[in-house]
Amino acid sequence: MAVYFISDLHLEESRPDITRAFLQFMDSIQKDAKSLYILGDFFESWIGDDENTDLQLRIKSRLKDFTQGGASLFFMHGNRDFLIGDVFARETGAILLPDPSLVQFNDKPVLLMHGDSLCTADTGYMKFRATIRNPAFLEPFLKRSIEERKITAQQLRAMSQANMQSKSTDIMDVTSEEVIREMTKHNVLTLIHGHTHRPQTHHLDTGQQKAQRIVLGDWDKNVWYLKVEEDKPDALMHYALDQAFDQSVSLPNRS
Ligand code: MN
Repeated sequence: MAVYFISDLHLEESRPDITRAFLQFMDSIQKDAKSLYILGDFFESWIGDDENTDLQLRIKSRLKDFTQGGASLFFMHGNRDFLIGDVFARETGAILLPDPSLVQFNDKPVLLMHGDSLCTADTGYMKFRATIRNPAFLEPFLKRSIEERKITAQQLRAMSQANMQSKSTDIMDVTSEEVIREMTKHNVLTLIHGHTHRPQTHHLDTGQQKAQRIVLGDWDKNVWYLKVEEDKPDALMHYALDQAFDQSVSLPNRS
């Protein structure tokens, strides 16, 4: 049995290929998955649990099948889907995890995060993040109609995309000092996060012990996932998104 981690699928109506790859991925892990951790930005946008588009209904139903089959599903918010709430959790059987969350695998503590809170050099984003998660913004927002919320969400997204273009790529990556600070604070040698779309296993030197920061990948061109099994090294895997539908190619690559 294995534990799987994914993030940053950015599921949306305009990318049916990603939805298909996800449904195929779920079929492929269903047999040996003890649990699945989704570490945020699973959906490109989420304006409240009451929306229920065809895409959302289809995904929720697949997640429900997964949990009803006996596997556990854990969900951590990303910056795009932080409004996923208790109704979604109830409908899918998911357990919502706070960011960060300390968990235990094979007797080792592991810290899980979405990753955006590690990008402290991006002071503009950190400010924006605090504003949109403030009840002073959220409470009135959630009272508006779905149509009104959609418009506001689009405006916020356009603003954030315009801001991103003027920023250096370094600023949008995690800050190393913040990574070390969080790992030290929680006393872990493994951190798993997404958000940056820079999938890689980083080996860190924290002095006496070897530590690792595993960054999950986004699903734009590849399916990325981390597989954690007892007595095996943590494996960050990927395969081309379009290979997901080619039955003749089935072996994922280790990276
Ligand atoms: Mn993100």
